[in-house]
Amino acid sequence: MKLLACHGDPYRRTLDTAVLDCVPRGDRYLVELAESVLFPGGGGQPADHGTIGEARVLDAEQGGGQVRYIVDRRVEPGPTTVAVDWDRRFDHMQQHTAQHLITCLAARGLAWRTLAFHLNPERCDIVFARVPDAAGIARLEKLVNTVIREARPVRHRMIEPEELARLGVRSRLLPAGHTGPLRVVEIEGYDLNTCAGTHVTNTAELQAVQFVGLDVQRGTGRLHWLAGGRLLADAARARARTEALNRVLCRGPAEHVAVAEGMVEEVKQARKALEAVERELAGNLGRQLAATEGPVATLHRSSADLPLLGAVAKAAARVRPDLHLLLTAGEPEGVFLVYGPEAAERGPAVAAILDGRGGGRGRRYQGKAAATHRRAEAAAALGAPS
Ligand SMILES: [Zn+2]
Repeated sequence: MKLLACHGDPYRRTLDTAVLDCVPRGDRYLVELAESVLFPGGGGQPADHGTIGEARVLDAEQGGGQVRYIVDRRVEPGPTTVAVDWDRRFDHMQQHTAQHLITCLAARGLAWRTLAFHLNPERCDIVFARVPDAAGIARLEKLVNTVIREARPVRHRMIEPEELARLGVRSRLLPAGHTGPLRVVEIEGYDLNTCAGTHVTNTAELQAVQFVGLDVQRGTGRLHWLAGGRLLADAARARARTEALNRVLCRGPAEHVAVAEGMVEEVKQARKALEAVERELAGNLGRQLAATEGPVATLHRSSADLPLLGAVAKAAARVRPDLHLLLTAGEPEGVFLVYGPEAAERGPAVAAILDGRGGGRGRRYQGKAAATHRRAEAAAALGAPS
């Protein structure tokens, strides 16, 4: 692992240095710097964004002891200024340090072993080797926030691999092929762990941590959390939603749930009442259609859906099963229903006149149409022997 200026001082935001090399790759460029404050990624923490001169830094890659930054334009070798996207970096420092604290306190206080950590763009998560219970999660949240209030210093230093066991370093797994000194991060009085990431220098800078969700999968539990600025931003969004609901519901937050539950119940009742009215309407319209003289009857509604037209057609057919029915709704675009003897055979001709597409079988053929105003012509075709 190559140590950079960002490892020595994670609070440093800019650095005057030099571009050593810049080579194209696709529509991007790979840049090597003499020194850098841009964290190249590691320990579960994504690479920094920022700028090298005028170029935007999009990512970084490491290999062969070298760091190469991926940028959006060519930069000339020679002196340059590197700047970190500080808001993003500080957020990563907060989330990453919070992970150290959560992992260590979960192990110490609850014997929950961490399997993985994900520093995601929205909610970070830790996967535990067991399913955390609600009481344990509440206890862990309390423990974490207590250590945040204790304002414990967070330090990093280099140690020799032989010292890992003596110092009680939490994770003693080294990257494959690692030789030489190791970087360890210490939360005073609580945790000592190998890590190449960037961290805040005091737990007070985490401000607060809140657990916001748990996904259970095959005996493991993925616990989601928000720390620091993310938690404040989440609270601001929640407050904005509350204020919007105050306006929409004309009630204070304490009544939101009761009002919403009342509205859901009202909608259910209203739907039931509407269905009863539609059934009655369909029966009446069907009987009127059945009273039509001649072999064809038509009905047009400015708005109706196919289930309602179907109910009307069935009501009519109960009285006059011999009747050829053409029911339409909407104009000029809408829906149509052909119902009665040979509906499936006669339907395509009706659909063609109505500039529509449909399908069906037996006594029913239905679809969408772009020209329902041609329904009289379609009705004439429907009545003609097929
Ligand atoms: Zn770390």
